[in-house]
Amino acid sequence: MRWSVPLGRIFGIALRLHVTFLLLVAFIGYQGYLVAGGRGAGWAVALVCSVFACIVIHELGHSVVAQRLGVEVRSITLLPIGGVAALRTIPENPWHEIAITLAGPMMNLIIACLLLPFTGWPTEFLLVHYPHDLAGLLKTLVGVNLGLFGFNFIPAFPMDGGRLLRAVLALFVSYRRATVVAATVGQGLAILFIVAGLKFSAMWIILGAFIFLAAEGEEKAVKMRSLLRDIEVADVMTREFVTLTPQAPLREALTAMYRTGQDDFPVQEGDRLAGWLTRQAVIDAINSHGEDTPVAAVMDADPPVLSPRNKVSWVHEQMMADHYQGFPVMENGRLVGLLGPDNISRYLLLQESLKPKRPARAPTPTPPPVIAAVPPTAAPPPPATTLPPADRA
Ligand SMILES: [Zn+2]
Repeated sequence: MRWSVPLGRIFGIALRLHVTFLLLVAFIGYQGYLVAGGRGAGWAVALVCSVFACIVIHELGHSVVAQRLGVEVRSITLLPIGGVAALRTIPENPWHEIAITLAGPMMNLIIACLLLPFTGWPTEFLLVHYPHDLAGLLKTLVGVNLGLFGFNFIPAFPMDGGRLLRAVLALFVSYRRATVVAATVGQGLAILFIVAGLKFSAMWIILGAFIFLAAEGEEKAVKMRSLLRDIEVADVMTREFVTLTPQAPLREALTAMYRTGQDDFPVQEGDRLAGWLTRQAVIDAINSHGEDTPVAAVMDADPPVLSPRNKVSWVHEQMMADHYQGFPVMENGRLVGLLGPDNISRYLLLQESLKPKRPARAPTPTPPPVIAAVPPTAAPPPPATTLPPADRA
């Protein structure tokens, strides 16, 4: 996640802190200061840090159980709105999802039970007063943990309750159907929150809107995964493309971008893949060093490559996780195709528009790859005054 800094590793999982979290600490500290001066600020900061420690333990609960079930956990990031554990793969076995989901709120229940003998029953949950001593801090923490435990059972994405509802439904119907039903329940609740917010508090309206959008996002993500599940890189990769040589000046790459719409270029030396050149690298290098810079100076000399047999769903996860935009596809040491986000989005668009669905896999043998090269004597590009935008849609 951008704008997050590493804090270290726990159980092999990278713990990261989003910089906006520091703004929250400063804000809460200032509120504490307004209530009770320097001491108030100190206790307020202690409270917000303790609450986030509990959230880390909650996320670790999810993560450690996920690891035990063979799901790789990439990182836990602390945001001002809570924690996010990023799983590399999504568990689609309902029992696994139930176990992973329950582990988080159970951690909050355990923390509350451990502290309860020292504090007595709290009077507030989630809505907290700033504490002014250790006893007050611990009592507030019990309330917060019980509040988090209850809050996470609201059956709406992105709360754990939404995942739990989906997993239980998935014991009876398909994963995708279960997601649609769980998302609809969540959106129904979101509308109730918004209506309640009109009467009680604007906070409910914000929460309702947030839940409504999260449900939609989850439904889309699952629909996409199910559409991508059975297709392989060979089914959707680009087979006609331009290659560059390491010695070519970047002017050639720019010309090829204008003329072909291709953004990333395999760099070939004879039959060997020598590197990978991205549009962003071309833009940055031309802006700082000019169009005569050779491709070899800015290409990635050791790019990750795909096999035509790789699952597209897996590739998509790598793209999302590692911010790779495109890949060369190699078979038996030979470059046979390119795959980028455009290939995937085009496939999804077609699948969603066609009725009935027609798979990408062609019934006839696919034609051999055609590899074109940019003529070195290419004319200057059309009179565009600006470079294309840096970020792809
Ligand atoms: Zn959770």
